[in-house]
Amino acid sequence: MKYAENIADLVGNTPLVKLSTVTDGIACTVLAKVEYLNPGGSVKDRIALRMIEAAEASGELQPGGTIVEPTSGNTGVGLALIAQRKGYKCIFVCPDKVSEDKRNVLRAYGAEVVVTPTSVPPDHPDSYYSVSDRIAAETPGGWKPDQYSNPEGPNSHYRSTGPEIWDDTDGRLTSFVTGIGTGGTITGTGRFLREVSSDREGGRVQIIGADPEGSVYSGGTGRPYLVEGVGEDMWPRAYDPKVVDEVIAVSDAESFAMTRRLAREEGLLVGGSCGMAVVAALRHARTLPAEATVVVLLPDSGRGYMSKIFDDDWMSSYGFLKESGERTVGEVLA
Ligand code: PMP
Repeated sequence: MKYAENIADLVGNTPLVKLSTVTDGIACTVLAKVEYLNPGGSVKDRIALRMIEAAEASGELQPGGTIVEPTSGNTGVGLALIAQRKGYKCIFVCPDKVSEDKRNVLRAYGAEVVVTPTSVPPDHPDSYYSVSDRIAAETPGGWKPDQYSNPEGPNSHYRSTGPEIWDDTDGRLTSFVTGIGTGGTITGTGRFLREVSSDREGGRVQIIGADPEGSVYSGGTGRPYLVEGVGEDMWPRAYDPKVVDEVIAVSDAESFAMTRRLAREEGLLVGGSCGMAVVAALRHARTLPAEATVVVLLPDSGRGYMSKIFDDDWMSSYGFLKESGERTVGEVLA
């Protein structure tokens, strides 16, 4: 019989799929790494598993402990599903821009969710960083993984995501493109791919970041944007800019239009940060010859965004629908 002993054993080893329609006009191969096929539905299962195991080994997380983390949802799901098996409690702190759908998913896994305002600076006592620090300190047995500074975040990608991409492309990929949130994915995966390709004939793998317009990674001030899970208003320790060759800024409108195209044209129902990463990947791919291979990582599923990116009224309320070439109800009926 072939089965996994536990759902946590199914984290990682996600497949690559070729993008074939949205790549119109591009000469090279563009492959998407589909992270929603992780058991918790996102790339964050990888860091959750590694951070918990490392904290158990170091003694920071004791039996019966409580995991407290500021998370926009995906890290929470990963932590919750691994915590469940190991008997830990979870309390997650989310900014209020995170969809109610996503918060309910965390509650469904048995976690407690605390909601904080999005529009306060990180050092404000009500910010999700400050609130999670307070709860972790005041809860007996509380442990904060802190995905923004925990080296096991990047390390999980160095040990899993990077080698998987290298193996699945037979060491032939030209570039790796991914969104930057905590910076863990790009730092760990990028570091591995740079190292392993450093002596390669034809040059090493280029590491390209995708960032929402306004975020600090692409030179912005940290002003707000709507795409979730990526971009920052501060510089987390999980991010190592030395690993990154270029950061491409992408607008909300472009990110969401591409997210909808990925569902309709490629059958990939993915989140807004995936649309953003694909826009950056295609912009980069346009500069490459036919024999190049670009791998773009798609962090999560579109299921958590049904009332936003995939809702016409929500899209129209921000003036985004026009950008995707879709018609409004009025135009269809006219
Ligand atoms: N997309 C989504 C939806 C995310 O939740 C995250 C994690 N914050 C990212 C992209 C970025 O990944 P990382 O934190 O590793 O930079």
